[in-house]
Amino acid sequence: MTLHTQTLAELRQLLDGGKVSSAELTEHFLERLARVGPELNALITLTADQARAQARAADRRRAAGEKGPLLGIPLIHKDIFCTEGVKTSCGSRMLDNFVSPYDATVVSRLKAAGAIMLGKSNMDEFAMGSSNETSFYGPVKNPWDLTRVPGGSSGGSAAAVAAGLCVYATGTDTGGSIRQPAALCGVTGFKPTYGRVSRYGMIAFASSLDQAGVFAHSAADVAQVLGVMAGFDERDSTSVDAPVPDYAAGLAAPLKGLTIGLLREFFDGLEPRNAALVQAGIDELRKLGATTREVSLPHLPLSVPTYYVVAPAECSSNLSRYDGVRFGHRCDNPKDLLDLYERSRGEGFGTEVKRRIMTGTYVLSAGYYDAYYLKAQQVRQLITDEFRRAFQSVDVLVGPTTPTPAFAIGAKVDDPITMYLNDIYTIGANLAGLPAISVPCGFVDDLPVGLQLVGPHFAEGRLLQAAHGFQQVTDWHRRRPPAYA
Ligand code: GLN
Repeated sequence: MTLHTQTLAELRQLLDGGKVSSAELTEHFLERLARVGPELNALITLTADQARAQARAADRRRAAGEKGPLLGIPLIHKDIFCTEGVKTSCGSRMLDNFVSPYDATVVSRLKAAGAIMLGKSNMDEFAMGSSNETSFYGPVKNPWDLTRVPGGSSGGSAAAVAAGLCVYATGTDTGGSIRQPAALCGVTGFKPTYGRVSRYGMIAFASSLDQAGVFAHSAADVAQVLGVMAGFDERDSTSVDAPVPDYAAGLAAPLKGLTIGLLREFFDGLEPRNAALVQAGIDELRKLGATTREVSLPHLPLSVPTYYVVAPAECSSNLSRYDGVRFGHRCDNPKDLLDLYERSRGEGFGTEVKRRIMTGTYVLSAGYYDAYYLKAQQVRQLITDEFRRAFQSVDVLVGPTTPTPAFAIGAKVDDPITMYLNDIYTIGANLAGLPAISVPCGFVDDLPVGLQLVGPHFAEGRLLQAAHGFQQVTDWHRRRPPAYA
C-alpha cells in the first residue's frame, strides 16, 4: 500500500484501525520529501524534528481515545502563514531571516486538531505571481512535467499535494492563487468566501482580497480541512461571525435541482481543447440532475485591469512596513537613514514586487487616485452587483479555471501583461469575495485542466457538494503524475 496516494479519509481509517501510526505516516512523507522534494523545489523549509514530535503527540492523543479527521495526518503550510519558531519568508529575501514569534490562526487551529506540519511551501514572492517564478527561492516545478510551472502563487503547496509529498496543504488566494495552481497541478483547490477563514497571521498582500484555503485530492478531503480552518476570529476584524456548517455531512446531498450558470464571458478566448473538457465536465453535472442556463456578466472582462489597480494599491500600503527598521531585511553599513531605507527595500524585494509597489503608489497618488483607484473600486462594485444578480437565477457558476494548461518555465516571466491574463477566470470571485473551487476535469497533452465552480457568499457547502458529486462519477482527481505515483 502506498500511503501517499491515499485520501485524508482513507488515512484516517488506517490510523483509527491501528494499521499505521502517525509516526510511521510522518516518516513516510519525510522520506519522500527528502528523496523527491528537492527536484520539485516545493518547500522552503522542512520541519522534520517538529513533525516527528507532533506525530508522537498525535499518537498519544489517539491512544487516549481521541478521534478527529486530521489528528496525526501530515500537511504543508504555504510560507505566507506565520508559524511560531519557524522561518516564515513569504517567498522573499525581505523575510529570509524572519522567524515568527506566533502562529497564524489557520496554523493554530490545524495544530490544535492534531495536524502535523512537515514544512513550509515555496510560493511567489509575497504571493504576487501566477507561476511561482517570482520566489526568491527559485521556481517550483510542475510534477506532471518538470519543465513547466505549477501555477502560482501557492505553487509549492499544489505541487506537494500532486506529487504525494503530503495529503493536504494550505494556500492563499488573492486573485486565483489556490485555484490556478490546483488546476495546473491536477488537484482540488478551494478558496472560501472572504471572511470565512481568519487572516490573522497570514502575511498581507491585498487585504480586501486575500483569503486562506486548502489543497487536497478531493472535495471530500477539502470539506474536512475547511471545517477545522473556518470560523470567526476576533483577531481578524474582517472575519465573519457566522456558524460553520458541517461541510462533510452535507457532501452526499443529490445535485438534482441544482441550477448551473454558464458564464458567457468564461468561454470567450478559451483554448478549444480546454473548452471541450470543461463542456464535458458540465455534461457530467447535467447527468447528475443539474440544469444549466446561460448567464452574462458584462463587466467581468474588466476584472483583470480592475484587480491590477486594487491589488497593487493595497500591496504598496501593506509592504511599506518592510523598511529594514520595523520589519525585514536591513542592508549592510547604511550611510544614513535614507540610504538604509533605499538599499534595504532595493535589496529585499524582487522585480515583480517592486513593479506592484510602484504601480500601487502611482494609482493612489494625488491626481491619479480618482482616475485609477476610485474608478477601479467602482468597477469592482459593478462586477460584485452582476454576480449578485446572476445568483438570483442560478445556484453556482461553472467554467474553466485557467485559459491554458501549465506553460513552460520562462515562457511568460518577462511579459507581465501576458502573465496577468492567466488570472482572467479566477479574479472575479476575489473582487466579489465569493467562494470558488477548482477540480481536475481532464488532460490536454498529458497536462491537467481544471473546472471551476463559483458560488454565492457562504455557499461553501453547496460548492463542495457539487464538486463531490462530480468526483463521484469521474476519476480525474485520482490521477497522479506518473513520476510520483
Ligand atoms: N496571480 C495573481 C497576482 O499575481 C494572484 C495572486 C494571488 O492570488 N495571490 O496577483
